[in-house]
Amino acid sequence: MKLYNTLTRTKDDFKPRFEGKVSMYTCGPTVYHYAHIGNLRSYIMEDVLEKYFRFTGYDVKRVMNITDVGHLSSDGDTGDDKMLKGAKREHKSVMEIAEFYTKAFFEDCKKLNIKTPDVVEPATSCIDEFIRVISSLIEKGYAYEAGGNIYFDTSKLKKYYVFNDFKEEDLAVGVREGVEEDSNKRNKADFVLWFTKSKFDDQELKWESPWGLGYPGWHIECSCISMKNLGEYLDIHCGGIDNAFPHHTNEIAQSEAYLGHEWCNHWFHVLHLNTDNGKMSKSSGEFLTVSLLEEKGYDPLVYRFFCLQSHYRKSLVFSYENLDNAAAAYEKLVAKIVPLLEGTGDIDKEKYAELKKNFTDAMDNDLNTALAVTAVYDVLKADVSNAAKLALIKEFDSVLSLGLVEAAQKQAEKSSGAGEEIPSEIAELLEQRKAARKEKNFALADEIRDKISALGYVVTETREGTKVTKK
Ligand code: AMP
Ligand code: ZN
Repeated sequence: MKLYNTLTRTKDDFKPRFEGKVSMYTCGPTVYHYAHIGNLRSYIMEDVLEKYFRFTGYDVKRVMNITDVGHLSSDGDTGDDKMLKGAKREHKSVMEIAEFYTKAFFEDCKKLNIKTPDVVEPATSCIDEFIRVISSLIEKGYAYEAGGNIYFDTSKLKKYYVFNDFKEEDLAVGVREGVEEDSNKRNKADFVLWFTKSKFDDQELKWESPWGLGYPGWHIECSCISMKNLGEYLDIHCGGIDNAFPHHTNEIAQSEAYLGHEWCNHWFHVLHLNTDNGKMSKSSGEFLTVSLLEEKGYDPLVYRFFCLQSHYRKSLVFSYENLDNAAAAYEKLVAKIVPLLEGTGDIDKEKYAELKKNFTDAMDNDLNTALAVTAVYDVLKADVSNAAKLALIKEFDSVLSLGLVEAAQKQAEKSSGAGEEIPSEIAELLEQRKAARKEKNFALADEIRDKISALGYVVTETREGTKVTKK
């Protein structure tokens, strides 16, 4: 399989260190708020990658952290400590916030058919590990104490900016506009491994350490959680592109300084989901969640379909118009699968292999999910039995996870009359909403949709018209 590697800036042959096995690490969410659908784009594409590895026969072990303490890498960081900010916003403790949003994150993942990684480890459960690795970095001369904090000394490395398509002066933390200089640092790129004195001193969670009562910096957690669970060699590390610098750059610095050898060969980065106003982010205040999409009547799997229709290495622009198109295409696709459900006829092995190759060729070419989706359409058009079509679609969907067969079964049930009738109260509200939309009174139309939703029904706009289904 060819897969783009941010480290070499080429499409490399993906080769794990030990035959047949893949160790995979994913940067997990900072659990101070709901995940937005931009974050989830990254997790969807990583999920497809993991499932494709398994599809091709690899034994995968995938690990993910949960950032439940701080989100800081130096005292010069702009803004606030995200976890503290969340706790203040909701008048709850940091641990309550972490627990609530961790649960919410996995609920969203479930709705999007994103598999939970084999190991999920919150940062707060690995404090001893952080202290052990930081102590070793100090011993090896890679870290120093200043102003009560422990910093990583980037000048000790032969090469720090490993993802070298960055301009050093643009990226060095401390010289960016709006970022305060942290005067403790010896070098601009140095970052904090352990805080005991910080401008964010009102932390609720602090731990004893050889350097005093304090808490870890952000980057150290991923290095330690990865090494603890996957050993000293990592086959592939994933995350959104904004993590490449400084987070992943610093992970490499610490891990390799600690291990004394190269750590991870392959870096997989997903480009951003953008809105018309730029990158979708929580700090900008404007962000969309899975629940919000559901409230507006979209099936979360339509969002997954929308993501898979474009390549992970291109930024993707979100708009409701684009999502509506995806919703209509998804529905049509599902409708084409309904007649196959009986799955009769013989399977022509040669033709089957040919059609399967369309799919694997697409995925082997840098995870081209858009072409992989096209391979599903190719199956539908092909001159093979329904049994072959159904089996192929099931195989492809074990990776794509669009719930195609399940959705087709639901659609079949509904059209056979096995589904439930819409109560007259809902039908009446639908009529009122239709009239409101006709008059372009969208505020009223939204209000009516909320009423329908409160009664347990979801309204969806499709190309074929308005549909209503029981939640
Ligand atoms: P966070 O919870 O902020 O640590 O981010 C979780 C993951 O989402 C990280 O891998 C980020 O790189 C990724 N991410 C953040 N914003 C976006 C976005 N707009 N589009 C895609 N991925 C994103
Ligand atoms: Zn990370």
